[in-house]
Amino acid sequence: MNQSPVNQLQPNQEQNTNNHQCPVFKIIVVGDGAVGKTTFVKRHLTGEFEKKYAATVGAEVYPMKFFTNYGPIVFEVWDTAGQEKLAGLRDAYYVAAQGAILMFDVTNRTSYKNLPSWYRDVVRVCNKIPIVLLGNKVDVFERVVKAKSVNFHRRHSCQYYEVSAKTNYNFERPFLWLARRLTGQVALEFVGEYAHKPEFVMNPSLIAKNEAELAAAANAQIEDDGEDEL
Ligand code: GDP
Ligand code: MG
Repeated sequence: MNQSPVNQLQPNQEQNTNNHQCPVFKIIVVGDGAVGKTTFVKRHLTGEFEKKYAATVGAEVYPMKFFTNYGPIVFEVWDTAGQEKLAGLRDAYYVAAQGAILMFDVTNRTSYKNLPSWYRDVVRVCNKIPIVLLGNKVDVFERVVKAKSVNFHRRHSCQYYEVSAKTNYNFERPFLWLARRLTGQVALEFVGEYAHKPEFVMNPSLIAKNEAELAAAANAQIEDDGEDEL
């Protein structure tokens, strides 16, 4: 891909299902029911407005356009219609995904414990695609899964971010990481607006506490979190 910035991202016509004149990437969002997947994807300004229902798969597809210093890029972000609460998702949901967002809820330990089965399905169908792990709801004071016990990303070489869909905290971080990985442009930055106004403002001292614990955890040895070997 071209190395010089500004309007240099090449459209990929094969993956271009929406006539966007820019690169388009399919991103799937997986994780237990109620972790906040739908709340998270609805934060995007145009994605929520232009979403489409893929009836055969039972998924909402949110076309999220981001403007970057290399030109626009679109993520077609797939969100389930709730089937994950009852059973697994059909393979068609995963097929041709180029990136994945794997989400758990830091107030729900079971949603963390269930990550291996979601991860296994992503890898089974998509092989080696970039995966971002998100710990959502970090705006909540009564957090159950602490930063120091989040090791999944280290075992499986995923990127990890702590987010809060309700406050937009770190909303853009996973998309920026995926954009850089998928375009190969390490200096790519987003420009302009892309998110709705947050529902509320996250407590600044809670942000500071979370970030300090995350930094300490990154430097610590991996704790045994009881995860079964894959
Ligand atoms: P999904 O089943 O994974 O799509 O989860 P939903 O998006 O439907 O969210 C489940 C519940 O969690 C809803 O009551 C949301 O309002 C709540 N929720 C989602 N994100 C957050 C968050 O960042 N913080 C808090 N406190 N609640 C959230
Ligand atoms: Mg949902």
